[in-house]
Amino acid sequence: MTQTQELEIFIPREKEGKYLTLPFQMPEDIETFHLTYHYQTHQDHPEETPSGTFISSKAINTIDLGLLNPQGEQVGVSGSNKTEIFINAIQATPGYQPQELMPGEWKILIGAYKVAPEGVTVTYRLTFTPKEYQLLMGDIHTHTIASDGVLSVEELATHAKRHGLDFLAITDHNQMVSAESLRRVKGITLIPGVEWTHYQGHANFLGIDRPYDEPFFTHSDEEVKARFNSARARGALIVINHPFDPTCGFQFNMNELPFDCLEVWNGPMRESNLKAVGLWQSLLESGQQIPAVGGSDYHKDGLFQILGGPCMGVYARANTPSEILSALRAGHSFIRFSPQGPTIQLKADECQMGDAKLWEAGQIVHIEAAGLIAGDIVQVINQSEETVLFQAHSEGHVKLNFPVKAPGFVRVEILRTFLPGLPPLPALISNPIYFLEETPDQ
Ligand SMILES: [Zn+2]
Ligand SMILES: [Zn+2]
Repeated sequence: MTQTQELEIFIPREKEGKYLTLPFQMPEDIETFHLTYHYQTHQDHPEETPSGTFISSKAINTIDLGLLNPQGEQVGVSGSNKTEIFINAIQATPGYQPQELMPGEWKILIGAYKVAPEGVTVTYRLTFTPKEYQLLMGDIHTHTIASDGVLSVEELATHAKRHGLDFLAITDHNQMVSAESLRRVKGITLIPGVEWTHYQGHANFLGIDRPYDEPFFTHSDEEVKARFNSARARGALIVINHPFDPTCGFQFNMNELPFDCLEVWNGPMRESNLKAVGLWQSLLESGQQIPAVGGSDYHKDGLFQILGGPCMGVYARANTPSEILSALRAGHSFIRFSPQGPTIQLKADECQMGDAKLWEAGQIVHIEAAGLIAGDIVQVINQSEETVLFQAHSEGHVKLNFPVKAPGFVRVEILRTFLPGLPPLPALISNPIYFLEETPDQ
């Protein structure tokens, strides 16, 4: 629920030419802050002239604006020409810096440039829009000219925006990129990353500038482990990439390495990806809770390579790197074949995809799939079987219920026939909801 607050301040004439501050509290978990202000700027005087009435208008008050965050930093300043500003983590009114809205005491800077003899009352209206779960689409595996791609970060970001993506991770081979250098592209959330690239396997380290200090190359399993442990300790989201790629599959023992997600879908759907989905399924069947991710591994446009093919749909509380990464880490996400296509949400009581809960008799998973086209198949997969729940006969969306008969997990795939005559392939793969068996009291 959006909250609003009105603050009023009287500025007497003696404050003309001074700077004042007006404190207010930024609540927790705010996505966008909006401020408008008004006061009497002009005074009108009707004057009779031989041929009619002339209303003269004289400027009597001029109040400038600025904003300080709880650290006392200048968030932005503007002259009296702007009476409305907004700020969130990725965009802001020109003159103001996009930023995560830190809870605590913020201050409105009041520039009392011109004040009428009788003083002026200024009214500020503050609007706080809270973070809430929203579906964001993004590609978390891309290359630029810093490695073997053909686009600069800015070109890639523009390309991504035009294709309808909300976020993008930059993952050049063994080239780190800083969050600071990515801030200059507006209107899309850019996440720093590096694809740690070794002849025996690739992994993405996302969300931090510098996952490790040493050179990328390693000569032993111990050194590989050290790179991964360093990335984990510094808070990177670690993804094991394209485990069955015919030329650069993952040959290290992933059971001995810390990682958060498994890339089961890299570029166009093909045999190596189907094998990765199979590996993921077997890990889920063994009781592990591992979020699956996908990414286009975009280098340049090609017959089968497009930016966002596939991409991630994440249910994040805000379009910020930290919220997107925590949604990926939690598995609140699905993989889709392109920036446009079907969407899915799974719910079991208060749980969504990626969450775990105790299994109960009579447990139901509610499935909502949208963006379906004729022929699309909605298939549920659990620890023991695959069940076709629905086949669309036209475009549309569907709400389905699936009874969960035993502890385990439930995930969904939407299958589509992309080329007539060929078997259907996944157009979407959801992460599972996990149903745990109650552990008997010791
Ligand atoms: Zn790779
Ligand atoms: Zn790559």
